[in-house]
Amino acid sequence: MELSKLLRQNIINLKPYSSARDEYTGEALVFLDANENPFNKPYNRYPDPLQRELKSKIAALKNTPESQLFLGNGSDEPIDLLFRAFCEPGEDNIISINPTYGMYQVAADINNIQVRKVSLDEDFQINPESIINKSDKNTKLVFLCSPNNPTGNSLKKDSIIRVVENFDGIVVLDEAYIDFAIEKSLLPDLEKYPNLVILQTFSKAWGMAGIRLGMAFAQPGIISVLNKIKYPYNINILTQQKALELINNESKKNEWVQELIERRGKMEKELAKLPFVVKVYPSDANFLLVKVHDATGIYNYLIEKKIIVRNRSRVHLCEGSLRITIGNEKENKLLLEALNNLI
Ligand SMILES: *Cc1c(COP(=O)(O)O)cnc(C)c1O
Repeated sequence: MELSKLLRQNIINLKPYSSARDEYTGEALVFLDANENPFNKPYNRYPDPLQRELKSKIAALKNTPESQLFLGNGSDEPIDLLFRAFCEPGEDNIISINPTYGMYQVAADINNIQVRKVSLDEDFQINPESIINKSDKNTKLVFLCSPNNPTGNSLKKDSIIRVVENFDGIVVLDEAYIDFAIEKSLLPDLEKYPNLVILQTFSKAWGMAGIRLGMAFAQPGIISVLNKIKYPYNINILTQQKALELINNESKKNEWVQELIERRGKMEKELAKLPFVVKVYPSDANFLLVKVHDATGIYNYLIEKKIIVRNRSRVHLCEGSLRITIGNEKENKLLLEALNNLI
């Protein structure tokens, strides 16, 4: 794969903004280079634009070189940056599966890029050939999401790899829910696939949605481009500090994941007993997609009870379905009590 053939010419030509913290990175006695206020430490200082300390910790955690890791303001940032790096507005297109996470379409619309949607089959799986066949010379990105949102299932690994190996552009594999899945991450195989970008996040299993921290993993050439075009200080000091602190607690994260997977199993059984539940789809994530009679009626009833789920009943292949996040014991109990009161 030739990266220079896929990138937009203006991005190849771009001379990135050079901040004070880029020009001088070492320790010093006196910093008078960034027009910072000397008071109000430590918040007076600009953060490290490349988040070196945090990145080295995350790289160790993920067993991946720092040169293959990009940190963003949630996964949403690398999604947008990939469009800006590879897709010429009004000319290029991307392929996404249908249904999937809504941000790919939004980022495409903002960047004026056509989205070519390829439907999943009834088992919510992809057909690699129909994805490849839908592409043309202007197709720069294919977005895959596994486990997929809102369907909850993992895509088959060999199907993902077939797309990666046969598509001439970049394949973005969103693994936001990978910690909850039986299928393993493709991250250990990243070296084999120069056109693969893997997205992960601290928003789900790690319980840090509020601090906004997402990861993109890819070959160093792609990571350099993302670093070149991002806002210079995309990860603020508060986020970097809090993440450094919370990442030490990987065992806690693993406990949460175990507990949520157990609760998901229980919730699945309880929901299946309800007479108005048509189907609870198998889930590899921290939510369940549930097909019911009168999805919108149940959705509105739950809102009256101050319980909010996601109404996906007008989403392709999810007709009549609600997406329900697995909460803690009390939250799940309140939901089930409310639903049982409908019988
Ligand atoms: C929740 C979610 C994310 C997380 O996005 P952040 O910006 O990192 O919070 C990414 N992808 C999918 C498919 C999701 O459902």
